Amino acid sequence: MTDTEQRLLAATPDKLYIGGEWVPGENGHIAVVNPATGQTIKTIADGSPADGIRALDAAVSVQDHWARTPPRERAEILRRAFDHLQERKEDFALLMTLEMGKPLSEARGEVAYGGEFLRWFGEEAVRINGRYGTTPEGTGQMIITHRPVGPCYLVTPWNFPLAMATRKIAPALAAGCTAVVKPATQTPLTTLAFVQLLEDAGLPAGVVNVVTSSSARQLSDAILSDPRLRKISFTGSTPVGIELMKKAAEHVLKASMELGGNAPFIVFEDADLDKAVDAAMLAKFRNIGQACTAANRFLVHTSVADEFQQRITARVKALRVGPGTQEDTQVGPLIEEKAVAGVLRLINDAQSRGAVVTTGGAALDGKGFFLEPTVADHVTSDMALSIEEIFGPVIAIQRFVDEAEALALANSTEYGLVGYVFTEDMARGQRMIDLLDTGMMGLNVGVVSNAAGPFGGVKQSGLGREGGAEGIYEYLETKYSLMPDPHRK
Ligand code: NAD
Repeated sequence: MTDTEQRLLAATPDKLYIGGEWVPGENGHIAVVNPATGQTIKTIADGSPADGIRALDAAVSVQDHWARTPPRERAEILRRAFDHLQERKEDFALLMTLEMGKPLSEARGEVAYGGEFLRWFGEEAVRINGRYGTTPEGTGQMIITHRPVGPCYLVTPWNFPLAMATRKIAPALAAGCTAVVKPATQTPLTTLAFVQLLEDAGLPAGVVNVVTSSSARQLSDAILSDPRLRKISFTGSTPVGIELMKKAAEHVLKASMELGGNAPFIVFEDADLDKAVDAAMLAKFRNIGQACTAANRFLVHTSVADEFQQRITARVKALRVGPGTQEDTQVGPLIEEKAVAGVLRLINDAQSRGAVVTTGGAALDGKGFFLEPTVADHVTSDMALSIEEIFGPVIAIQRFVDEAEALALANSTEYGLVGYVFTEDMARGQRMIDLLDTGMMGLNVGVVSNAAGPFGGVKQSGLGREGGAEGIYEYLETKYSLMPDPHRK
């Protein structure tokens, strides 16, 4: 480890953050591992369910005060947090690379993306407006206002340690909600450093609390069973989301769920192949393929499939695989050993059923959890590679003959997060916007994420939207009041 890395890790908090205090966890310690080396880089507090309840106590105790804090003040705290993040962007990027594995260039991109939620929701905090109107009969006056939903439980995944936290914390704070945050067990350091940054930006004690824990289910059960909690926002896998929704139903909690994806990437015969190949590399290899928005199924028209496959295979062979801390690395390690085994299972299954691997297909020897970037051609719908979320650096190419087949294949999944479409025919593009059963779509682009856009899915990809003008309403309740018309006796 370099001196800079050692200094950064030593300066990163290692305790729970409850009521503005750094406190030990009741369950001992959790080891945080660098996936590029397999080595433990820091140990942090392991919170118990009782720690979780203490964190909720803190959030509940300041909820009313925070809700009444002027929106401008809440906005200024978010804006200062944005500024602090810009000053410390290299530290945050390096910390994410160390605990999660992504290449430094991508970690810097995540700091930029994650930071935008602080700026965006700071701007939205002062624009929480209602409506006023007369009833259709003219007998009454209606006032529609929005108020914070109350204490929230925010659970984040390991793949975007900063952005998934800011995408929830920023709108919660802007709306006037307090929170208990549970980061993923594999990548807690970024969230701990981020809450320290919020404190530096002037966030009052208790408004945001962080509990790291190796017993996610027990911690979540305790917090979700507490009637004082009013909302859960979860980003993670669909099975865990379903489990948390069942639990949340017991107290009829407001729930936002950002779950798994199985994105189709459709290349029509009239696509600009240069654009499609560039975008495919981005849509697949960003975050080492470990993104809910990663293109999972490359559906390519038969007339251009051979050329697309050959060009993609050449590009994939040239990718530089290595530790994310090396500036020239393009593809880092997967998050853990079992992730490598899981992706290999999908590749082997596809090969045994007739798929052709044109490059890659094996784990890399040596330390760390590395997998060769892989291209599999002649994939079919019955292969697990098409059905499951791959979450690794594998391009799976499946061929189609016409638009109707492309659409049917694209929509034949229980997921519906995002789709990518490549065509130079804008009427066809518009038809796809209309007919693709997803919450988001990229037309001739390989990345759609933007703080100003409402991010989210349909079907089993989730409920609710994060970001955009819509995002703050996930943390607000609508209240309707009726009064007699003052002009009528
Ligand atoms: P995960 O579901 O395993 O874990 C997510 C979070 O839930 C973590 O904090 C984890 O500690 C916690 N958790 C795990 N099991 C739990 C349980 N039984 N009870 C309560 N909490 C539990 O997901 P992951 O592996 O961290 O992330 C990858 C998944 O997240 C993928 O499916 C990906 O598509 C999805 N994801 C979705 C989005 C989106 O916006 N739709 C964004 C990023 C990731």
